[in-house]
Amino acid sequence: MTMHLPVRPVWTCAGCGQVWPCLTRKRQLLAEFAGARVSLMLYLTQFFVEACVDMPTTTTGTLYHRFFAWPYEPTDAPPREHDHRRLHG
Ligand SMILES: [Zn+2]
Repeated sequence: MTMHLPVRPVWTCAGCGQVWPCLTRKRQLLAEFAGARVSLMLYLTQFFVEACVDMPTTTTGTLYHRFFAWPYEPTDAPPREHDHRRLHG
């Protein structure tokens, strides 16, 4: 099983090489935190803080969008059998 975890301090995905959180990890997080949006945000906060420390040249606004905006944006991902996304949850 490929683990889609961040590679610090560059914050790319160890599993697929995309910027972290990658699309796969986002899908996993949406499934893991289905119906628990606040918990997801708290979970993401710790990564956001660490990313700010690791990437001081990247603006906070950019990182904020990268870590916190995606749960509220629809993805182009095809529907999946176990897709538990709740855009308004
Ligand atoms: Zn990945």
